[in-house]
Amino acid sequence: MNVVTPLQELAATSTAPALSTDRRPATGPLPVVVIGGGPVGLAAAAELLERGIKPLILEAGTQPAAAVRAWGHVPMFSPWTYNIDKAARALLERHGWTAPQEDAYPTGHQLAEAYLDPLSRTPEIAARLRLGVRVTGVARVGNGKVRNAGREAQPFEVRFLDSAGREGRTFARAVIDASGTWTSPNPAGGSGLPAMGEREAAAAGRLRYGMPDILGAQRAQYAGKRVLVVGSGHSAAGTLIDLAKLHEAEPDTRVIWALRTRDHLTRVFGGGDQDQLAARGALGSALKGLVERGVFEIAAPFTVDTIEQAAGGTLQMSGESGDDWQTLQADAVIVATGLKPDLSFLAELRTDLDPVLDCPSALAPLIDPNLHSCGTVRPHGAIELAQPEPGLFIIGMKAYGRAPTFLLATGHEQARSVAAYLAGDIEAAKRVELNLPETGVCSGPGPVADVPKAASCCGPAPVAEATKASGCCGPATPQPAPVAATSCCGA
Ligand SMILES: Cc1cc2nc3c(=O)[nH]c(=O)nc-3n(C[C@H](O)[C@H](O)[C@H](O)COP(=O)(O)OP(=O)(O)OC[C@H]3O[C@@H](n4cnc5c(N)ncnc54)[C@H](O)[C@@H]3O)c2cc1C
Repeated sequence: MNVVTPLQELAATSTAPALSTDRRPATGPLPVVVIGGGPVGLAAAAELLERGIKPLILEAGTQPAAAVRAWGHVPMFSPWTYNIDKAARALLERHGWTAPQEDAYPTGHQLAEAYLDPLSRTPEIAARLRLGVRVTGVARVGNGKVRNAGREAQPFEVRFLDSAGREGRTFARAVIDASGTWTSPNPAGGSGLPAMGEREAAAAGRLRYGMPDILGAQRAQYAGKRVLVVGSGHSAAGTLIDLAKLHEAEPDTRVIWALRTRDHLTRVFGGGDQDQLAARGALGSALKGLVERGVFEIAAPFTVDTIEQAAGGTLQMSGESGDDWQTLQADAVIVATGLKPDLSFLAELRTDLDPVLDCPSALAPLIDPNLHSCGTVRPHGAIELAQPEPGLFIIGMKAYGRAPTFLLATGHEQARSVAAYLAGDIEAAKRVELNLPETGVCSGPGPVADVPKAASCCGPAPVAEATKASGCCGPATPQPAPVAATSCCGA
């Protein structure tokens, strides 16, 4: 975590100078606009700079990596070795940065402070990063979504609101959307719409999304209360483990866990010591231990329908439980039902997104949680991420749409490939190499041979190989390793 002083001394990136507000694009080469100054947006900027392309990074937060800071108290389950982009590392090291210890696990705050802050302060990035700039729309200059004439010759117009609420615009030769999904949490409602009354409960501060800092800043909101957690992903697991610690310290704290089905328990418990990311496996194992000890009251199956603020400050959450109707009582509700992309500002562009996951269509069969959960994904890059609108790419957490298995390492590889593509190095863009740590648990539908080939997570593996597989991801018995890969997904 050693960061040399010259970097610290560089002024924090400012919101000035103002972005172009010209009516027409300026003459001369336009930048590649990167939407989002999170870990993947900043990695994309570093990759572009390495290829001699000038990025302009627009970040909604007043600090880089605003989303990561929002879950800053959460320990990451991937160690530093998976969390640093290669081009970003090279850029930082040119400025005297020393990387944190490879096998240590940062929290979100440490990821921001030890890596992303120094990266954003390098002169190369600082000059091109604009903070407090929220992108509100992207289009082809003079062309709405429908109009064909001369469309592809036109640059992109990127509209934004600055932190004072003023509207502005800038122009780009290409747009990389790395804006993540943090600001669009799924609601508690079982249908995907907010439960009846959910908005009011959230507005009253009685219901929170994501991973509140239960053992830190928000402790008082949960200590000694009946807390109801909805959801069954990693965020729910982390939240429940924190609540269990709070219960241990303050036994009046009661924790109710509502899940759509008990089957989700297996998935959230994960692969334990089979998980190639030890900390991710440990998270599931710890949760399993707590469930077995009866620390939580489990409501499953339970599909949330209505949330009411009853007299005396109690929240009543009602929904279907099998053939019955059940009502759960709580003082506070934490909704950890996952995230989804905000596609609103891409509405005037031509996109090809999967109807189920809202991710680039070519990625969907590789990451669909209905098909697999192994954590691996066949290498992919600019070719799979390209949209019908030439020059538009969606990368990072947002590239996974509603799928929950995104890892930073995937985003770095996407960024590298897209930068190569934009630099015209198609061969490098196609040469994607990505070995992701497997979760050790497969939700896949059994032998890959039973799965229509195109729908398998691993893509069209030769049938002879596929028939030997035991799940969605890897062979049941040792198979000759595919070149540069640990599973069929890497071939
Ligand atoms: C609690 C949690 C723990 C995680 N732990 C791990 C882990 O251990 N290992 C791992 O590999 N992955 C982990 N992930 C998954 C993933 O790697 C992270 O979410 C990562 O932050 C994704 O990076 P990103 O740059 O794609 O998106 P984000 O980090 O979400 O960054 C997007 C940025 O875009 C900005 N933005 C959003 N909308 C706009 C807009 N309209 N205009 C301008 N800017 C905008 C946001 O402010 C934000 O800074 C975790 C995720 C969560 C939520």
